[in-house]
Amino acid sequence: MQVVASTSIHTGTHLSNQQARSPRHHRRRSYQETGGRYDYIIVGGGTAGCPLAATLSQNFSVLLLERGGVPFSNVNVSFLSNFHLALADTSPTSASQYFISTDGVLNSRARVLGGGSSINAGFYTRANAGFIKRVGWDEKLVNESYPWVEKQIVHQPTFAPWQRALRDSLLDVGVSPFNGFTYDHIYGTKVGGTIFDRFGRRHTSAELLASADPKKITVLIHATVQKILFDTSGKRPKAVGVLFKDENGKQHRAYVSNNPKSEVILSTGALGTPQMLMLSGVGPKAELEKFKIPIVLDNEFVGKGMADNPMNAPSSGYGQSKDSIHCHHGIMSAEIGQLSTIPPKQRTPEAVQDYIRRKRELPHEAFKGGFILEKIAKPMSTGELTLVNTNVDDNPSVSFNYFSHPDDLKSCVQGIRMAAKLVQSQHFLNYTKCDQQTVESILNASVKANVNLIPKHTNDTKSLEQLRVVDISTFNESPGTNPQGTILMMGRYMGVKILRDRLGKTAGV
Ligand SMILES: Cc1cc2nc3c(=O)[nH]c(=O)nc-3n(C[C@H](O)[C@H](O)[C@H](O)COP(=O)(O)OP(=O)(O)OC[C@H]3O[C@@H](n4cnc5c(N)ncnc54)[C@H](O)[C@@H]3O)c2cc1C
Repeated sequence: MQVVASTSIHTGTHLSNQQARSPRHHRRRSYQETGGRYDYIIVGGGTAGCPLAATLSQNFSVLLLERGGVPFSNVNVSFLSNFHLALADTSPTSASQYFISTDGVLNSRARVLGGGSSINAGFYTRANAGFIKRVGWDEKLVNESYPWVEKQIVHQPTFAPWQRALRDSLLDVGVSPFNGFTYDHIYGTKVGGTIFDRFGRRHTSAELLASADPKKITVLIHATVQKILFDTSGKRPKAVGVLFKDENGKQHRAYVSNNPKSEVILSTGALGTPQMLMLSGVGPKAELEKFKIPIVLDNEFVGKGMADNPMNAPSSGYGQSKDSIHCHHGIMSAEIGQLSTIPPKQRTPEAVQDYIRRKRELPHEAFKGGFILEKIAKPMSTGELTLVNTNVDDNPSVSFNYFSHPDDLKSCVQGIRMAAKLVQSQHFLNYTKCDQQTVESILNASVKANVNLIPKHTNDTKSLEQLRVVDISTFNESPGTNPQGTILMMGRYMGVKILRDRLGKTAGV
């Protein structure tokens, strides 16, 4: 029950409003200085973790542990024009960690403060109303939480000429009404939000830490949590802290305060959360035994129901679907291994390099447009996540089984029919097909089935105590659209909810 000292962990804590945006203010501070126990330990300073930490710090002490560095001084992260560079950087210090699912499709997960919001394409939209109802969230609090995020980091995008052409084509083929600029996910054609400002500068969830109480929050970066520590002496296993290592590999322990309401909260993302649970002894017994991990809770659902939104996009031109049509500016998929022209298993690094070389021979006009992609918004096909080893730095094995469910294929075919109509409207010249050979990832991976199995404060004997998950892995379905808006909102929402549940009206939010 002690806090082990370290002298080499960078911290990005005690950020004032201005400071949160400026790398100058990130100073080295030893973990010793932070000392003590925390009311909340949040693992993962990502899309959900940052707004959650900022909110909880209004009333309680919070330790936020992030395995990556800060986004502020990283040009690959900060600028829209470098979006593909962060993804193409496969070095161990990259803000993104690439992984290849067993389907053969290349994919990325964040490894930086701000999480996915620091490496993603920036598109921002709210979930549809049906999703909020099905999750059972308090609509009033949801409607207060979205604007809390939007005021700080979301912007209205500027329109490229070809995007105007696409808008007109969509309206021509009957995808109406035109809803203008809106964050709402509604039927028709619309312009959504973006976390890039008009100068192309990215605003990540890490900036939400500017709303934290600097006296109550401690943010450690390059702090990789290796496992959750449980007290198994009582009736139900209870999370009491975490074991983490700094960038020199030195191990430390941090503990939650001695109050039954204190919690360890996992916000480690779609792959990180099931992996962390298993490494900590929570998961299918057979899987844990395979790696000689002491079992804390046999839970067959951890790692099951992994789903990713398949996208089908040509290397130039467009694609689209009944569910969701996106248009992206520029052609960048190949650099990040999203090469739809050849089947997934042939997308070797050499094939990607060859494509990039040939792309250089294209006339520069080819890059003035963009590509339209079709995405299956609510994939029915699912796969699973299993461990490869017990090293938290390594990716687990994950399969998504794209298009294994016939409904996904049906959806895609309907989309392609709509695409043919767009071609007839003569604004666009090329289209693609949908199958397992052309599939790429829209990079929204989520876990479907371990929802609610991981415990809050309940009297449910199946649960663990003082452990909670707040990230995309709690979603049972895709929020009908790109998820980051809803995940950012959820971080704020859950923070306020926890404070109100604990303090009632005296909660300072
Ligand atoms: C390339 C790409 C493009 C995308 N484009 C869009 C888009 O345009 N619009 C949209 O809405 N969505 C988009 N998404 C999806 C969206 O960004 C993610 O779904 C979302 O950010 C996930 O949020 P999260 O909080 O669940 O996880 P994350 O934001 O990934 O946060 C998890 C955090 O935990 C940290 N972590 C993991 N393990 C550990 C550990 N052991 N110890 C300490 N820290 C750890 C990670 O480093 C990370 O910072 C995109 C995703 C990608 C990868």
